[in-house]
Amino acid sequence: MAKQQIVIGDVAYMVNMKWVICDRCKGEGSIGNPAFDGISLNDPEYDEEFFEDYFNGHYDVTCPKCMGAGKMLVVDEDNNSEEFLKVWREEEEYRAECEAERMAEQCF
Ligand SMILES: [Zn+2]
Repeated sequence: MAKQQIVIGDVAYMVNMKWVICDRCKGEGSIGNPAFDGISLNDPEYDEEFFEDYFNGHYDVTCPKCMGAGKMLVVDEDNNSEEFLKVWREEEEYRAECEAERMAEQCF
C-alpha cells in the first residue's frame, strides 16, 4: 500500500494512495500531439502520408498528466480518514476554482 505525505494548511497527513490508470492517455503514457488537435482529414495542408504517421503515433508526445507512466498515484478516497478527506476535498475544490479563475483571466 502506497502512502504519501500531503500537507494541507499547517497539517501533514499520511495518506493512503492508490494507482489508477491515467485518464488522459488511458494508460498509454503518450497522447496525440495537441498541436494537431482539431485538424481535419480534408485539410489540404496534410497529405495521406502525414495521417498514416499520425495514426501510427509518430507525432505522439509524452502524456503531461502522468509523465509517460500511464498511471498515477492518487488519494484513495475509500481508504482514508473522513477528517482528512473533508479537508482534502475542500482544498481540491479551492484549487480547481483558482485554476478556472486563472484560465479565465489569463493571469496569475
Ligand atoms: Zn497519462
